[in-house]
Amino acid sequence: MKIIIKTNIVLLICVFLLSSFFYSATAQQAKYVFFFIGDGMGLAHIAASEAYLSTSQGKPGIEKMSFSEFPVTGFSTTHASNRFITGSAAAGTALSTGYKTSINTIAMDSAKLKPLTSIAERAKTEGFKVGIISSVSIDHATPACFYAHQPERNMYYEIALELPKSGFDFFGGGSFHSPFDDENGVSAFDFAKQMGYNITRSREEFENLKTGDEKVYATGNVVELSGALRYVIDQTDNDLLLEEFVAKAIELLDNEKGFFVMCEEGKIDWASHGKDAVTMIHNVISLSKSVEEAIDFYNEHPNETLIVVTADHETGGLTMGHALTGYNSNFEILHAQKISAQTFTLLADSLFEINRNQNMGFAMQLMEDYFGLGGVSGIPLSEYEKTMLEDAYLISIGKMELNEDEKYLRYGGYFPLTATAIQILNNKAGISWTSWSHTGIPVPVFAIGAGSEMFNGYYDNTDIPKKIAKAMGFELTFQ
Ligand SMILES: [Zn+2]
Repeated sequence: MKIIIKTNIVLLICVFLLSSFFYSATAQQAKYVFFFIGDGMGLAHIAASEAYLSTSQGKPGIEKMSFSEFPVTGFSTTHASNRFITGSAAAGTALSTGYKTSINTIAMDSAKLKPLTSIAERAKTEGFKVGIISSVSIDHATPACFYAHQPERNMYYEIALELPKSGFDFFGGGSFHSPFDDENGVSAFDFAKQMGYNITRSREEFENLKTGDEKVYATGNVVELSGALRYVIDQTDNDLLLEEFVAKAIELLDNEKGFFVMCEEGKIDWASHGKDAVTMIHNVISLSKSVEEAIDFYNEHPNETLIVVTADHETGGLTMGHALTGYNSNFEILHAQKISAQTFTLLADSLFEINRNQNMGFAMQLMEDYFGLGGVSGIPLSEYEKTMLEDAYLISIGKMELNEDEKYLRYGGYFPLTATAIQILNNKAGISWTSWSHTGIPVPVFAIGAGSEMFNGYYDNTDIPKKIAKAMGFELTFQ
């Protein structure tokens, strides 16, 4: 009897050892990695986008984003080493290096003394090809954290000079924020060219890029003064889209050894700072389409591809529901907004300038034309909302004063008429914002593919690049 039990135990151990050997022998390494960061994209941003998409199809409920269908989901903390509510530099450093740093620091330790190696730099050393993409300027905090090391995020020129030194294979999306130094005038573009980078600035040049082209920096053909691509809601057929940069990265980087691509949708954050829900939603949808490019690649290489989608923090304290709408939602009305708040402000500014005899009637016409508010055929406004708009108009033209705190709470430093128009539209739809800044709430993480099971649970943001590195077969260590 005893012998039989012993034999069974030995047999069980053998089966266990054999199966764990078999498992480790068959567990696939992530040879192709896509790391998407929706800057400022909290759960409510995704939920609002899914509700909006559903109303475009005349359906109740939600229409899922590509990445919210991923089999693995988790949550990540976002706090920085010296502040609970983080900024994009500290959060970007956590996501790129696995190290918790201080506010405004780009891939250096909290004391801003020691550079920290990013997962992109490690991937390059390990022989993977590397691509960095962003819809805002390529020297902005999030992309910078993957190739640069600077004590302050606003050292744009110094960051720009580090781009070609990285030797990364592909950069795409926004242009440089500050390509010129005030003192010696060496252009960051010229420096990148000297370092062997092929820079494309038109759609034609972009489309001519082909497999085999190395060291490419493909900038958007239409960019703002900040270097960012335009808001998706303002783009035309002429603009190069974020998803096109992802498709191009795949085309240029696909190789036997594998690649690592980080793609940031940075304007989800910018729109959210301005509480501009409709504009934010269009950029979340663009991120979803960019992820679709990666999913198409994943479908061809399902055992060797890992896709991770997350955010660096939440922006705006967005939620779905509002005191005045209670339990009701009315997302359809969001479709009435035609342009971003930013573009409307520029337009209103020049229209106000042209039409020196403008009055409240003129302002109300703009509300109807661009936000579908009021007028004969627009969304009916309550007396309270009309007063809100009237106050905003008077403050916009300098005929009414407010206490500074009251003014900031209402308009957050934005053009009062624009801030009020989008607030009314958002609130009537049943969407509200609680801050003009980032918030400290955890962010969601979505993953699919090789090593994706590691992204289950609730963990620190510094764990994310460590998990990706592990899936790729190396360890992210501090030097
Ligand atoms: Zn951010």
